[in-house]
Amino acid sequence: MIGVLGGGQLGRMLGLAGVPLGERFTFLEPAPDPPAGAVGEVIGAPYEDPGGLDALAEICDLVTYEFENVPVAAARRVAELVPVLPGPQALEVAQDRLAEKSLFARAGIPTARFAAAGSSDELTAALKEIGAPAIVKTRREGYDGKGQAAVSGSVDATDLWSSLGAAPLLVEERVEFDREVSLLAVRSKSGATAFYPLVENLHQDGILRVSFAPARGMDTGLQSDAERYATTLLDSLEYVGVLAIEFFERNGGLLANEIAPRVHNSGHWTIEGAVCSQFENHIRAVRGFPLGSTATTGDSVMVNLIGSVPAPSDLLRLRGAHLHLYGKAPRPGRKLGHVTLVDADPAAVETALALAGV
Ligand code: AMP
Repeated sequence: MIGVLGGGQLGRMLGLAGVPLGERFTFLEPAPDPPAGAVGEVIGAPYEDPGGLDALAEICDLVTYEFENVPVAAARRVAELVPVLPGPQALEVAQDRLAEKSLFARAGIPTARFAAAGSSDELTAALKEIGAPAIVKTRREGYDGKGQAAVSGSVDATDLWSSLGAAPLLVEERVEFDREVSLLAVRSKSGATAFYPLVENLHQDGILRVSFAPARGMDTGLQSDAERYATTLLDSLEYVGVLAIEFFERNGGLLANEIAPRVHNSGHWTIEGAVCSQFENHIRAVRGFPLGSTATTGDSVMVNLIGSVPAPSDLLRLRGAHLHLYGKAPRPGRKLGHVTLVDADPAAVETALALAGV
C-alpha cells in the first residue's frame, strides 16, 4: 500500500498510474470528498493529526506526497515509521522561498536577484538593494501567485509589510522574461535520472493556464542547462521521485524560480504525450523500479480548466483531445480539470483554448 499525503487531483492521477502496476493507495487529506477518493481509501484528518499520520504509516509500506505545503513535522513523524519519498528535506526547502533560492545559489543555478526581509526596516533595505520593479513574496505558503505584491516605484514599506501579513519576505527583481518554462525530472532510488523535454507555460493571475510540450522552438542548449541544474538539485537532495523546476527564460538563458517536490501541473501532458507519464515515473521511482522512457509521443498542448468546465462533448470532439475532470465543485480560480491535445491541428488547439476561456 502506498500512502499519499494529500488527496487532490495529483493524488488521483498518481493512483490512476499506480493501479496498473498492482499498487493500492491510501490518501491522508483534510478536505471532505477529495478527488483522490476515486482511486483509493481516504483518511480524513488534518495533516497535523498524529492519529491520522500514524494510521497512514500503519497500513502503508511507503509514503509520498502530492502537496508541498504538508507540514514538514508531519512528514518527519511518518518517516520515523515508514520510508517517505521524496525525503522531508525536499519539502523543507520547497516551503521556504529563501531556502530554495539559497539552494539554487549554492548549486550555481542562476536566479533573479533576491534579498530577504524579516521586518519592515529590512524590507526598506531589501527594496533599496533590489530596486524597482520588484516582486515581494512571502517566504512561506505562497503558491499560484498568492502572497505576492508587485512593486513598480516607491512604496511605503510599513504598509507593504503589514499587507503581506507581517511575515518573513523575499524581495526579487522583476524579471522581464521572454517566457516561462519548466523541467520535469525524475530520480530513482539507484540514482538514475530522466528528464522530460522543457515545457513552455502560460500563466494568468499567477495560475498555470496552458503548457506547450515540448516548449516551442527550444534550443538544445537550454535543455542541457536545465538538465544539468536539475541533476545538481536531485543529487544534493538525494531525491527520489519526480521534481519540477520552474524557470524564466531570458535572453537565451534560464533563471530558476522555484521547485515543486512532487508531480506537477506542467507535466500533466505526459499522461498521453509521453511514453511513460510523470505519475507512473514517480511510482516507479519511489518503488525502486527502473524509470520509464520520457520520450514524447507527439507535440502536446495542455489547457487547464479553471473555475468552470465547458461541455465535455465540445472538447472530446476535438481530434487528439484527452479530457481529465477532477470531480471538484466549481469555484472561481479552482483547477477543475485539464484537457491535453496530442498532435492536434492548430484549429483544434484554438477551439480548446477558447472553450477554456484562455
Ligand atoms: P511563483 O509563486 O513564484 O511561482 O510566482 C507565480 C508567477 O508570478 C510566476 O509564474 C511568474 O509568472 C510571476 N513571477 C514570480 N516571480 C517573478 C519574478 N521575479 N519576475 C517576474 N515574474 C515573476
